[in-house]
Amino acid sequence: MSMINNELNRNPLQAVDPEVYTTIAAEQKRQQENLIMIASENLVSRAVLEAQGSVLTNKYAEGYPGSRYYGGCTYVDQAESLACERARQIYKAEHVNVQPHSGTSANMAVFLAVLKPGDRILGMDLSHGGHLTHGSKVNISGRYYQSFSYKVEPDSCLLNLEEVRKTAREIRPKLIIAGASSYPRLIDYDGFANIAREIGAVFLVDMAHTAGLVAAGVHPNPVLCSDIVTATTHKTFRGPRGGVIFSRQKFAVSIDKAVFPGLQGGPLMHIIAAKAVAFKEAQLPSYAAYQKNVLANASALSEALIDLGFSLVTGGTDTHLVLVDLRNKKISGMEAEKLLERAGIIVNKNVIPFDPKGANNPSGIRLGSPTLTSRGMKPPQMREIADLIEQAIAGRNNGGSLARIKQQVDSMCSEYPAY
Ligand SMILES: *Cc1c(COP(=O)(O)O)cnc(C)c1O
Repeated sequence: MSMINNELNRNPLQAVDPEVYTTIAAEQKRQQENLIMIASENLVSRAVLEAQGSVLTNKYAEGYPGSRYYGGCTYVDQAESLACERARQIYKAEHVNVQPHSGTSANMAVFLAVLKPGDRILGMDLSHGGHLTHGSKVNISGRYYQSFSYKVEPDSCLLNLEEVRKTAREIRPKLIIAGASSYPRLIDYDGFANIAREIGAVFLVDMAHTAGLVAAGVHPNPVLCSDIVTATTHKTFRGPRGGVIFSRQKFAVSIDKAVFPGLQGGPLMHIIAAKAVAFKEAQLPSYAAYQKNVLANASALSEALIDLGFSLVTGGTDTHLVLVDLRNKKISGMEAEKLLERAGIIVNKNVIPFDPKGANNPSGIRLGSPTLTSRGMKPPQMREIADLIEQAIAGRNNGGSLARIKQQVDSMCSEYPAY
């Protein structure tokens, strides 16, 4: 024990584990030296990092504030209560549970709370922008429940609520899920809520991607019209990696029981403290300004890409993300992802609706603005990046051109430090 303490007092990680220390240092350098445009990623504040790296990781606290299965919970109770209180205020929720380890755990807890195995669920098709946990056959949500999906329209790639209504009336699901991972447009939550009400289904919104936009009031708040809302705290929200569940009071007990003891054991108290910090940050005026910039940047990126001849799914964006259909550029999503990575621009290959090539070799890439916006970039930088993406793809057989692009990426990265 005293040896551990001595090491801790010096340069702890470097002394104890130089291999992991070096790996983390390399990852930090990668984050600084690349333009990261993964739509589901972000950069947390140093305050969030500090809470996440705190001694709260040492504490077991099964249960909820005021009723734990362990002694010594005074301070972790304070941390969790702060997180809950702030989250409830921000989203105007009747009830909140901040313990889910991830967005997936949050969704599983909702299923456990409101469904029995074999019940019917209706969610957005994975290949049209939905999430794995909304009924995909390879996920527990599609194996333990009878899952059905709605799709976007063939021409516009937009959701059509009349089609959703038709499917819902036919299927009569117990649970309807709205929310997506690669749908670049606003979702009509009120319209979905009406459909759920008409057929007596429970209505879940999964705002994993857009929780930050909602917190800042730049996107409509689904908590107001739905039964249950799940979110992640690490995407647009810009907090630690984790999940949250908001619900009506009438689901409070079943949701809490589903999270613990239904699905999880001890909560991650260091992460919950970091969630509390992120909720505090989300109440600052600078946070609303940040989320406005996230939208302005995605919009500027989308317009610049269109001007450069790129084809965007739905023709643009209302969110933090842009889905590019690369078919007219004669390059696959995979090739574009690899090529851009060599130029220092990090994106992910992504299926587009009705993708002729399928999920293993998809025809698109997904781009997001949250991380670059956290670095302070603005629309002029988005236009510059759109240009670089175009040049990289157009000059892909010319090694010299890629090196020139990488130089420009390097100079932008040093001008806008990640930390
Ligand atoms: C990212 C995401 C999740 C899952 O979050 P994890 O924390 O990765 O488990 C759930 N739903 C949607 C819509 C997502 O985009």
